Amino acid sequence: MSSFSDSYSAIVATGQQLFITHQNGQTRLTIATTAPGQQQSQSSSLATGEWRSPPALYCTSSGVVLQIFAEQKDIWLQLQGQQMQQMNSAPAVMEADRVTLESIETPPVMQPMKPMQMGNMEMKPMQMKMGDLEMSMGKPTSTAKLCSQCGQSVQTSDRFCAQCGHRLN
Ligand SMILES: [Zn+2]
Repeated sequence: MSSFSDSYSAIVATGQQLFITHQNGQTRLTIATTAPGQQQSQSSSLATGEWRSPPALYCTSSGVVLQIFAEQKDIWLQLQGQQMQQMNSAPAVMEADRVTLESIETPPVMQPMKPMQMGNMEMKPMQMKMGDLEMSMGKPTSTAKLCSQCGQSVQTSDRFCAQCGHRLN
C-alpha cells in the first residue's frame, strides 16, 4: 500500500479538469470538459506499475505537462487539445511552474447512462403498487346503514328492520 492518495485532480484550462487515477498498476487519465450546454470526457490508460510518488503537474510556457513517477521510469505527458499525449523526452520544467494537484477520494464516474436505466426499472414496481392502492381505495368500505325508526344497524339488502320490523327503503 502506498502512503499517498491514488486519485488526483486539477483544473488545467478554463472548463477543463484533469483526473489522474491509479489502480492495479494502471494510471488512468481523464479530461472532463465542461462548456455551456455540453459536458464530455476523454480517458486514456497507461501501464505504469506502482507510483513512486504522487504525479506532478507543471504549467510551462509550452503548455500543461504531467509527470508520472511510474515504477520503472518517469513518464511525461503534455496536454494537447482534450488529450494527454506522451512525450518522447523529459521537458525542461521548473519548480516555479508546478501546479498543485488536489488529492480526491473518488475517481469520476464517466458512464451516466447505466444508473438512469436502473432507475427506470425501479419505477415499474412502484407504479404497480400505486395501481393496487387505488383499486383497494375504490372498493366500498361498509354496507351498513341504520333503521330510521329505531336506529338499529341493518344491511342495505334488508327490506325490513330485524329489531322493530320497520319497512326499509
Ligand atoms: Zn328498526
